[in-house]
Amino acid sequence: MKILKFGGSSVGNVDRIKSVIGILDKYYIKRKKKITVVFSAFQGVTDKLIEIGSLAYDRKPLYKEEFKKLYNKHIEIAAELNPGNNIKVTEKVECLFSELEEILHGVYLIKELTSRTLDYILSFGERLSNTIISETMNGRGNSCEYLDASKLVKTSSDFGNARVDFDQTNNNIVKYFKKKKGIQIITGFIGSTINNEVTTLGRGGSDYTASIFGSALNAKAIEIWTDVDGILTADPRKVKNSFPLKSVSYEEAMELSHFGAKVIYPPTMLPALQKKIKIVIKNTFNPEFDGTEIVARNINDPFTIKGISSIDDVSLLRVQGGGMIGVTGIASRLFGVLAQNKINIILISQASSEHSICLAVLPGFGQKAKKVIEEEFRLEMIDKKIGDVAVEENLSIIAVVGENMRHTPGIAGKVFQSLGRHKINIIAIAQGSSELNISLVINKNDLSKALNVIHKNILQGRRR
Ligand code: ADP
Ligand code: ASP
Ligand code: MG
Repeated sequence: MKILKFGGSSVGNVDRIKSVIGILDKYYIKRKKKITVVFSAFQGVTDKLIEIGSLAYDRKPLYKEEFKKLYNKHIEIAAELNPGNNIKVTEKVECLFSELEEILHGVYLIKELTSRTLDYILSFGERLSNTIISETMNGRGNSCEYLDASKLVKTSSDFGNARVDFDQTNNNIVKYFKKKKGIQIITGFIGSTINNEVTTLGRGGSDYTASIFGSALNAKAIEIWTDVDGILTADPRKVKNSFPLKSVSYEEAMELSHFGAKVIYPPTMLPALQKKIKIVIKNTFNPEFDGTEIVARNINDPFTIKGISSIDDVSLLRVQGGGMIGVTGIASRLFGVLAQNKINIILISQASSEHSICLAVLPGFGQKAKKVIEEEFRLEMIDKKIGDVAVEENLSIIAVVGENMRHTPGIAGKVFQSLGRHKINIIAIAQGSSELNISLVINKNDLSKALNVIHKNILQGRRR
């Protein structure tokens, strides 16, 4: 059995949904291949739900207009996909919207929008798209069943970014699928807590849902269908000459996506890796193309560098002072206090003199990180062992990724040379000891040029 996942970009409008149904029909159903399919919300719907939720919270009556537009959009899609036969699907869509309307009214009245309520609101995106698509496919004679993943995927109560309890989830999935025959159409992105409160798995989380189900069911492959030809050597929106890779390892995919390659959500690789299930990225708009395979590492892979990705906006914190040299426990206190405050560190760089540690965080966390670090090291700061924490804004991180870099000297030199020749200043550098990734912090203004010159000097011109 294969698990297929179609992202929002593949279900952006009626024509796209029709072509996805065409792909399912031509390549799988007609060929009698067993499949389970995960769909995201229709393109833009998750963002719209966030917007409507905050409009209601702000007591802006505009939320009602936006709600109505979203309702119309779904009703129209449902009707166009089911001409002459749309009563049942329309009823289901209406039912979901009347529940959503009540929740939004509640947010408006009590002026409260907790992350728990927001997750519940967001779940409507996936519940609507999957309801409409499964009804449509059934209407066309396929035997499909809608499955609300929150019934099976059990998670922590970290709303917005919930962690999966794999023991419970895997049991639930295996048990459920034992009794099922038809094609299951599964809502991506959502799970639920032990108390059955709906959670979400983080933005882009439908990829993860596919991998969770794929791994629990020992699928033959997990196919992620999107709007590009696979994992490209760089973000195609930023580097025009980027091209699709034939294959990358799970670790390379994780590293590229962690550093901004949105094409796959980073945690997706973990369940697949554990069971050694291949992930394939395919293009809904070019279904014959073989796309990119994510598989176990191949040490004979001729390509040392696979790709470059970037996080466009980061802040860099610099903690420095003579009192840090040779003193044990500074790093552990530093990272401890950030973890306690749920501040995610994207990159760490420490000079061997131990005189300073640099940390990159998302811009929204820069000032908060400064505050909690300064509180933690208050006494050392009074004694002038540690100076004020400096925060630099408007920076970007570039990550150059490839497993086989570790056996090839001179890669870092080539990257630095490319930037040096174009007078691009490097503010901080980090390389994991695995040598899977070299990360550079540069000024945001230099980002586009930096990506393009590195790509040109290192990746361009070679075959797939
Ligand atoms: P979906 O709606 O299918 O989940 P996403 O928008 O989440 O699609 O991800 C696909 C997009 O990821 C592409 O359209 C592309 O612009 C972007 N992207 C960023 N970096 C890369 C990369 N290295 N390779 C491929 N796509 C990338
Ligand atoms: N709809 C969710 C989002 O936009 C999940 C996904 O598309 O993967 O983040
Ligand atoms: Mg996505």
